[in-house]
Amino acid sequence: MDNRVANVVILGGGTAGWMAAAYLGKALGRTVRVWVLESPSVPRIGVGEASIPNLQSAFFDFLGIEEDRWMRECNAAFKTGIKFVNWRTPGAGEPGPRPMGAGTDHYYHTFGLLPESHGLPLSQYWFARKYTGETDVPFDYACLAEPPIMDAKKAPRFADGRPATRYAWHFDAAHVADFLRRFATAELDVEHIEDHMVEVLRDARGYVTALRTESGRLVEGDLFVDCSGFRGLLINEAMEEPFVHMNDHLLCDSAVATAVPHDDEADGIEPYTSAIAMKSGWTWKIPMLGRFGSGYVYSSRFADQDEAIRDFCALWDLDPETTPLSRIRFRVGRNRRAWVKNVVSIGLASCFLEPLESTGIYFAYAGVYQLVKFFPDKGFAPGLRDGFNAEIEAMFDDMRDFVQAHFCFAPRRDTPFWRANAELRLSDSIREKIALYEAGIAINPPVTDESTYYANIEAEFRNFWTNGSYYCVLAGLGHLPTRPLPLVAHRQQGIERAGELFADIRRRQAELLDTLPSNYEYLRSLHRA
Ligand code: FAD
Repeated sequence: MDNRVANVVILGGGTAGWMAAAYLGKALGRTVRVWVLESPSVPRIGVGEASIPNLQSAFFDFLGIEEDRWMRECNAAFKTGIKFVNWRTPGAGEPGPRPMGAGTDHYYHTFGLLPESHGLPLSQYWFARKYTGETDVPFDYACLAEPPIMDAKKAPRFADGRPATRYAWHFDAAHVADFLRRFATAELDVEHIEDHMVEVLRDARGYVTALRTESGRLVEGDLFVDCSGFRGLLINEAMEEPFVHMNDHLLCDSAVATAVPHDDEADGIEPYTSAIAMKSGWTWKIPMLGRFGSGYVYSSRFADQDEAIRDFCALWDLDPETTPLSRIRFRVGRNRRAWVKNVVSIGLASCFLEPLESTGIYFAYAGVYQLVKFFPDKGFAPGLRDGFNAEIEAMFDDMRDFVQAHFCFAPRRDTPFWRANAELRLSDSIREKIALYEAGIAINPPVTDESTYYANIEAEFRNFWTNGSYYCVLAGLGHLPTRPLPLVAHRQQGIERAGELFADIRRRQAELLDTLPSNYEYLRSLHRA
């Protein structure tokens, strides 16, 4: 008897649903039929415009979709990093960084691995210099090539298309799911049903057998993937799996968002996401051609919606009465188990971390990647389910800890929101990491070099935030190790080599500033072609 899963039914046609459909369609070939049931009356969430670099290598390359093709279809722009603005100084929301010391209150979190000297990452040498007063250059400008090119609004690609540095993308959230729908239905034979699910049918063991739709159709399947968004219609409502709320780690639970028109020719296009600290949260700014997407992510414990709208509109000089605003309430946390019986949740139906590090869409394709790894037959072996659940839990909790650290170590204490963040409990896992960092150790150093690390989703999945990310954020917030790593003082040759690496980085910054086209020019020609 053929025990293979023959029909996979995906409930929901948002970014997660169509990512899951395309990925499964490709990974399983013609051996399964994939169905997407999408309600015409429930809109997609309509946000989710910033990404991380492995979107291309782990997702689009797997599907065989070239970067420029989907970029053109989704009005995509480049994201060379995240610029954190005003996370250290007190004050109201302001679009630009406030003066701080000899510079301004900002730091960048870029992508990519740090160079090494004699077995230690450059961060360790930078801090040894900083500690003895040999340098006052901030970590990001000393150890990374990208900050000056972001300041100058340069593209991360040369004019001939070669990448100059590692980058991710901004895109129009409305276009991504539609592009993937066209691709999955035309090229992978995924079946699309536009109808509203009204009932979940189950057998005596509680396994889902079919979904009934408003028009009376029965959509039968062996495996059901819940991509129905925050309501988790299959996993939470039908299977009654509890959602573990994590507002004891992360306080933000609401957002107001809009698109702001922008004069690209006059002002250029910033090749980065900005995360601007506000009184009760932070605001994203995600530039694309002709506009930027923006939203104030805030905690409803510390600001009501009217106040959030007032502060958000004041930031961009918008009229609160006439600006079309999305008002979003979100849940932060994950399902206790992402996979229960024959229901697997992916996307917002599975877990959501507030959007500070743009992890939502990554969670969707990382989830489907894991589903393929643990793909069951009709026997639904518990080991496969438990293996998948353990991966999702570890992925989410690690990301949550890193995002919480941004708020926890921000030195601002000027409003109740920032004071409350400093008092929240950090998990044991991140406390151990921070203790190592404070003692001078590199946290999560990658075991491979850059050429293989980023081409391997499995390696990245297991060790997502490497030492470079921890340094960008913690040093950026002014939280430094207490002492340099003692070993550095025994590495005379390492210190000399590090000196050369710092000089190389300065040279590279100057060279890139001279040679890279502006982000605006590059995007204009990409989208015209
Ligand atoms: P949705 O878009 O909500 O889709 C749900 C689908 O289910 C819809 O198609 C709907 O029609 C369907 N549906 C619902 N009920 C039924 C029914 N009864 N019958 C049939 N179909 C049904 N992620 C990032 O990576 N980067 C970001 O910058 C980012 N910013 C974010 C900002 C905010 C404020 C929020 C809340 C999220 C953000 N995310 C971000 C996350 C990102 O938006 C989501 O991960 C992504 O859009 C996937 O959403 P989804 O498909 O799971 O859900």
